[in-house]
Amino acid sequence: MLKLVSRAFPTEFPYHSHWKFGHSHLIYWTHSTSLEHVVPIARGGLDESSNFVTTCYACNDARSHYLLDELGWALREPASSTWLGLTEYPPALKATRTTKPIPPS
Ligand SMILES: [Zn+2]
Repeated sequence: MLKLVSRAFPTEFPYHSHWKFGHSHLIYWTHSTSLEHVVPIARGGLDESSNFVTTCYACNDARSHYLLDELGWALREPASSTWLGLTEYPPALKATRTTKPIPPS
């Protein structure tokens, strides 16, 4: 969904395929999920579903190979929500796409 927003508004909402900091909008780091190991592989954790959680990419990157206790962090229960993750908006976003490339600023 975020990539569609970037495609429609490349200057205001930039995206880099490797999320290069400063070349991608900060929301890619704060609102995209990534798969994380509760016990990092580097610390003996297993690469299996019993050791998986989702995090935002910023937390995943900040955590590195530390254990949650070492950072004073704890897991939270998944939130209950009816939010659809903006999935209802692609047709509206597609309608905003320009036919001409936006000149660099
Ligand atoms: Zn986070």
